[in-house]
Amino acid sequence: MAIIERSALNLLSVAVIAGISGYMLGCAPVEREPAAQAAAEPNAQQEQPDQAPEDADTAGQYSPVKARARDFYAPNTEDLGPDEMRLIACGTGMPTARPKQAASCWLLELGNGDKFIFDIGTGSAERVSALQIPYNYLDKVFLSHLHTDHFGDLDALFVGGALAGRQKPLRVWGPSGETPERGTKYALDHLRKALTWDLDGRQGLTDPRGYHLEVTEFDYMGMNEVIYQENGVTIRSFPAIHSLDGPVSFVVEWNGFKFVFGGDTYPNKWYAKYAKGADLAIHECFIAVPDMIEKFKFTPQSALAVGTQIHTAPEAFGKVMSIIKPRMAVAYHFFKDFDTTASISDRIRTTYDGPLSLSIDYMVWNITKDEIRVRMAVVDEDVWPPPATEKPQLPDAATRIPYSDAISGGKLDMKKVLQPTYDEINKQYRIHEKQE
Ligand SMILES: [Zn+2]
Ligand SMILES: [Zn+2]
Repeated sequence: MAIIERSALNLLSVAVIAGISGYMLGCAPVEREPAAQAAAEPNAQQEQPDQAPEDADTAGQYSPVKARARDFYAPNTEDLGPDEMRLIACGTGMPTARPKQAASCWLLELGNGDKFIFDIGTGSAERVSALQIPYNYLDKVFLSHLHTDHFGDLDALFVGGALAGRQKPLRVWGPSGETPERGTKYALDHLRKALTWDLDGRQGLTDPRGYHLEVTEFDYMGMNEVIYQENGVTIRSFPAIHSLDGPVSFVVEWNGFKFVFGGDTYPNKWYAKYAKGADLAIHECFIAVPDMIEKFKFTPQSALAVGTQIHTAPEAFGKVMSIIKPRMAVAYHFFKDFDTTASISDRIRTTYDGPLSLSIDYMVWNITKDEIRVRMAVVDEDVWPPPATEKPQLPDAATRIPYSDAISGGKLDMKKVLQPTYDEINKQYRIHEKQE
C-alpha cells in the first residue's frame, strides 16, 4: 500500500515537472515526449526540473529556453494597420506632479498616418518622447482647457520638439473663454512672450522652422461643431462644466471610428449625447472622496466640493458610461495605486458594468473593428530623439544675438583646448567651421 502511494506521488510530481518543462520549452522541437521520458527516469527529472530532457542528438545544441511572444507594446516596433487606431496614455494623473503619473496627455495615432495629442499636462512631454516618434509628426495639439495639468508641458513640446526635429510650427487648438483673457489665444500669446529669452537665445544656432506656435481658438460653446477637418479626419468640440466657462471635450471621427476625449468636467448632458456609441471614450474620474481626505489631506468639505462638483466622482463616471455605452470606457485623473484602485473600481461598478480601463501612464489601446487590445508600453529610458524626417535647414548665423562686450569679455581662452574638436569634426564631415 505504501509503495502504491509513493508511486502515485511520484507520478504527480512528474506530471507537474513535465508541465513546467513544456512551458519552458515553448515551441522548441522535442523529439521525445517529455512525460514518457520523465516516467522512464522519474528521479533524474525530479532532481533537475529546469533542464531540457537529455537527448544524445540535441544535447548542447540549443538553449532549452526559447523566446515566446510578449504581450507589451514596444515603441517603434509595430506598424499600424490602415484600419486601426492606437491610443497611448502619456499622462493620467493630477496637477500635483509625481514620478509615476504625468498629468493629462493622450496620443492618438490613426492608420492614415495622422497623429494627434490631446492635452499636454505637466510631465507628459517626457512620456511622449519615450514613444520615439519623429517630432515632425507631433505637430497637432488639442487642449481641453487651460489648467496646468492639461497644458503645463506645452512649452517643453514646443521648444524641445523644435530642437529635436519638428521643422514646422506647432499647431494648437483650444477653446475661447468667457472673456478674451481666459481664452487659449491669450494664454499662448503670453506663453510665447514668456519664452522670449529662450527663443531669442536660440536664433541662428539650429533649424529655425519649429519655433513658431500656430494657435486656433474656437468657440467653447460650439455644440459638436467641427473645429478640424483634414485628411479624412473630423474633430468636433462641445462644452464641459469645470471650474469656469471654457473647458471642452473632443470627438474624433475617422474611417468609421469614433474616439472621444473628455476634459475635466462635472457630468454633462453634451457628453452623454455626443459621446454615445464611441469606440473608445475617455472621461475623467476623480479620486474617491475618502482617499482625497485621507491621502490627499483635503478637508471633508473641500473633498466633497472638488471631488464631486468640480470633477466627476467614480460613481458618476460609471453612470455616464452606462448612458453612452462605449466599446471601451477609459477612466483617468486619479492616482492609481495599490491602495486606491479598488475603491475607484468598486464605485464605478455600482453604476457601470461594461468594458473598462482604469488608465495609467503608458497604457496602450489598439482599436480595430473587431477588437480593442489593451497593453502596457515598455519604454527605453535612455531614449534619444528619432532623426528628423526632412533634412535640417542650416540657420543663418548672422541672426544670432551677440553677448554684450562686458559678458563676452569674461570668456576664458579655450581656443587651443577646442581646436582638436574643430579639426576632428571638420575632417569627418568635410566642413570648414572656425572658432568664433
Ligand atoms: Zn481642470
Ligand atoms: Zn485636470
